[in-house]
Amino acid sequence: MFRQKKRMFATWRIALIATTLALVLSGCSKQFEVRGPDAPKPWEKTAAEELTHYLELCAEGRQVAVGWRSAVFHVGDTAFARSKGLSPSSFKDEEWCVKSFGRDVVLAGGGTRGTLYAVYHFLEDDCGVRWWMDGDEDVPSAKPLKFDTLDRCGKPFFLCRNIYRFSTSDPRTAIRNRLNDNGDSPIPAELGGAFTYGPPYLAHTWDKYLPFDKHGKEHPEWYALVGGKRIGGQNVAQMCLTCPGLTDVFSRCLDEFIAKGEADAGAKGVPAPRIYDISMNDNMRFCECTNCTAATAKYGHSGRQLNFMNAVVERAAKEHPDLLFSTFAYYYSEPPPSNGVRAADSVVVRLCNTRQNMAASIFDEDNRFMHDQVLEWNKFAQNLFVWDYGITYGKGKGYPVPNEPYIFEKFRFYADNGVKGFLLEHEDPGCSDMYELKYRLECKAMEDPYQDPGPIIADFMSRYYGAAGGKVLEARRLLDRLRRERKAFITWFPTTGEFNFLNDEDLVEFERMFGAAAECVKGDAKLEKRVERAYASIRRLTEFRRKFGTKHPPENGVADKPFFDFPAREKGYTLHDGDNVGYVKDPDFGDPLEGGETVVRVKADGDASYYDLPFELGVYAVADRRGVASKRWEKPLGTGYRWYSLGKVTLPARSFYFYATRKWTTQLAISLPGMNGGTFEVKALVKFTGPRFFPGSTEPDEIRIARVIYSPMD
Ligand SMILES: [Zn+2]
Repeated sequence: MFRQKKRMFATWRIALIATTLALVLSGCSKQFEVRGPDAPKPWEKTAAEELTHYLELCAEGRQVAVGWRSAVFHVGDTAFARSKGLSPSSFKDEEWCVKSFGRDVVLAGGGTRGTLYAVYHFLEDDCGVRWWMDGDEDVPSAKPLKFDTLDRCGKPFFLCRNIYRFSTSDPRTAIRNRLNDNGDSPIPAELGGAFTYGPPYLAHTWDKYLPFDKHGKEHPEWYALVGGKRIGGQNVAQMCLTCPGLTDVFSRCLDEFIAKGEADAGAKGVPAPRIYDISMNDNMRFCECTNCTAATAKYGHSGRQLNFMNAVVERAAKEHPDLLFSTFAYYYSEPPPSNGVRAADSVVVRLCNTRQNMAASIFDEDNRFMHDQVLEWNKFAQNLFVWDYGITYGKGKGYPVPNEPYIFEKFRFYADNGVKGFLLEHEDPGCSDMYELKYRLECKAMEDPYQDPGPIIADFMSRYYGAAGGKVLEARRLLDRLRRERKAFITWFPTTGEFNFLNDEDLVEFERMFGAAAECVKGDAKLEKRVERAYASIRRLTEFRRKFGTKHPPENGVADKPFFDFPAREKGYTLHDGDNVGYVKDPDFGDPLEGGETVVRVKADGDASYYDLPFELGVYAVADRRGVASKRWEKPLGTGYRWYSLGKVTLPARSFYFYATRKWTTQLAISLPGMNGGTFEVKALVKFTGPRFFPGSTEPDEIRIARVIYSPMD
């Protein structure tokens, strides 16, 4: 009995020694541990998985210590966090916290995304992980991680942080960078869902509430009276906002959409939509009935819209105090209201920044319109959102726009003046100028516009380009300086001429600078590719100049001095009107044995009256928003190709484009250094066919444009 007892004691003692030894050993190896709640929510599960995944990559041998002991992470709504007073209810929505108590580290936050943000902050700020773009991340090389204490918390500044990249963009990149919506690519429950719009859609929704096609016959009185007729539809006309009873009909639809929004979200396990949109259709035709006209005279277009909006949402706002309801100040409703109208507290007014100089500061004279628009509207609405642009479209898409020094001050200005949310269109990561840097700055500015962007840019340059970072930064600074000194105005739909602030010598210098940058990272394929992408926007401009840049020598019957030549075969035109305008080969032009040369064909056989005579050519100044020259021809100058001359035109110093037809469906938004500000004869080589232009003709109705030239006159 005694002997047996002694033996048991010995066994117990050995076990104790072994356990102690194991504890000491584990204490030495500092292997981290991740603990979550007993029944984790989908986003808590993701937060714990992401934490484990990245720590396994960057913590050598899973060694993470806080003080001298291995770290235990408590992710989300855990008993430990609760014991320290850090339960979900102690946080505001999206608030996050990284806090150590000895070896125990709480990573938790409010709402469905706070815990994720805590994990991502810890990984980014303390462990050095960077998420540049989908599938493009940098994790520091593995080493044992050691922290003395951890104590940081925060909450994103702006309520709605949405960057539209492309329709299938990875929502994980958005959440990792603390955005809370991701364009058209929804954020699923395992990533905490989004701050998002409920049905029917996020913009231009009037016709989705009451489609004209469905109700126009039975209720013509709901729709705009234009030219004596009740018309409607998304691209056709607006609604009759003073129509008695219309607000009630809208309110009932809104109730249904809210119910649907909540049911859909419940089914997906994501938070319910936070905002519902009720905004004008995407066209310029407002109601001209007596009551609407009188209301507009008294309150302005925006005032008439807000009176309607406030009435529509009144009941829903009382029943759902957490919800917001958005509308637009857009086109004719951009000016703020008069005679005491203001947006109800639950109403969000969205301003659209389409007139900006993309490359300049919000405080630049070029951007006074948006600057003043924000200041003005802040007096009439408690909630402003901005629909803004990080991309340039049109002919100048993918060309250099050195605006990274001004991103933060713009968001800071928005923050100072009542703006609470954004939809930022920044599409086309593959082509847009310095996409990863700008996306990073945009995400950071939306999270905290008051932080210093200098270290963020410096960190990006050194982490993203390695040894080439300094040289890339130098080139970008030069680009910004040249843009400022030469006062270039880059619109959101730039013409190529807007990049004429860079002359051909500058382009050679940039080629040299980026060449030197590439030299610094030679042999590192990943960094070489990144430097190549940093140069891509300037390379694109350089290639364009090589294609169009040389003046054409004098040509008999066309011009007696060297001139700028834009033949359609180079396909540099911008064509609007769907399939009615396109490129074809014309045996009447160029070498018939080759099937002719490529020209622009405008099919004029439809009922589009703007293809009727007179035929028009003109030049439009984009940045100055005014016509510069135009001329109309009552009939063709004859059959076959003929020169149609605008005569002597002094081209705008800033951007412009040439256009053809009365609907401007063929445009040439190209200009080269030496053109802006100069005086030229501008003419186009055009051919007309068909009965629309030559009665009795059996040919198809068409206008063909083979060439546009600018021939110097000074
Ligand atoms: Zn009306």
